[in-house]
Amino acid sequence: MPEEDPQETNPELPPAPDSQEVEALGLSTVHLRLYRLLYELRDNPPTMLEIRAEIADESGSSPAQTDRRVRDLRDYFSIDTVREGRNHRYKLRGWDHDRSNGLRRALSRRTRAQVLAPQRCAQCGRTPIEHHVVLVVDHKVPRHWGGTDDLENLQPLCEDCNSGKKAFYGAYDEYTEEIKAAAEHEEPHGRIGELLKAFRGDWVPSELISVVASMKQYQDDWQKRLRELRTLGWQIDSKKKKDPTSGRFHSYYRVKHWEPWPEGSIRAEISRLERRGRQ
Ligand SMILES: [Zn+2]
Repeated sequence: MPEEDPQETNPELPPAPDSQEVEALGLSTVHLRLYRLLYELRDNPPTMLEIRAEIADESGSSPAQTDRRVRDLRDYFSIDTVREGRNHRYKLRGWDHDRSNGLRRALSRRTRAQVLAPQRCAQCGRTPIEHHVVLVVDHKVPRHWGGTDDLENLQPLCEDCNSGKKAFYGAYDEYTEEIKAAAEHEEPHGRIGELLKAFRGDWVPSELISVVASMKQYQDDWQKRLRELRTLGWQIDSKKKKDPTSGRFHSYYRVKHWEPWPEGSIRAEISRLERRGRQ
């Protein structure tokens, strides 16, 4: 595929789904499929029914989910809703130039160069020179979950690790709203606890907990924060499971019982309970 230079792309036209600009948005697999569909059908825009028929098979089919994904894409693109009888058609216009306020576009070339400078995949350690891998810029916290373009949130990954990660996180797309809500909590205990609650007793992979725990400020000891929830009376199970494709083990946690948050600071309440326990 030809590499498109962001400087030379016509800003009035929607960028191609395979372009670097779209790649740099870090969209989820499903969002990317939706974008591709809207792009290919931009001259004959699809209805919601057609969109659902096309992308719902693997990834959840409720109109609300599809609506939400269109809304997510509108963070970056101008998508018109054209009424036609009882249907609406979704017409992709191009980049959204009116909503520059707080919204992000493709990364600058300078940022990309900075992130890729180590010339080594941050996950598997392979390099372009020795192993002939292609490195891409990865958002540690995916953009559609609220991850920023700050350098701390960016890392070089080889294409294999990147697509593995996308597939792994893609399985949790249906929790996007809950993940964003959990990430809003001021304290790491709150972010971890709300994430576990959002899964309503289902197993949550440790990678996801680590990412959400670090959303407001980086947490290198989120496991400790998670254990401290037990001091508050929470019951949390854990297990390890081998990923059949990669052969790597993943840890999972689930909440069986939770308690309401204390009135003030969670950390202060935990310290208080720990002091009392020691006496
Ligand atoms: Zn890699």
